[in-house]
Amino acid sequence: MKSAKELRERAICISSFKALWTQLLTHIRSCRPRMDLCWQCQQNNDQLVRSANLPEKRKTAAIKKQRDHLRLVQNVCLQKDL
Ligand SMILES: [Zn+2]
Repeated sequence: MKSAKELRERAICISSFKALWTQLLTHIRSCRPRMDLCWQCQQNNDQLVRSANLPEKRKTAAIKKQRDHLRLVQNVCLQKDL
């Protein structure tokens, strides 16, 4: 990897880099603390949100899926004494 100087590109400070990132790449963000859900939690939560206007049976199924996953995770954590 070459430096900006070696590439004869203009180097910028970190605050300018962050400002440009925020301005130009709004769709790419880093995870906020405590927002780092596992893939299954993220999928289940997305499904829960999408099921808001669906029949009760579909909403209940989405809730059960996430509840079952959370119970599984909780049991694994208890076994590992986390
Ligand atoms: Zn999870």
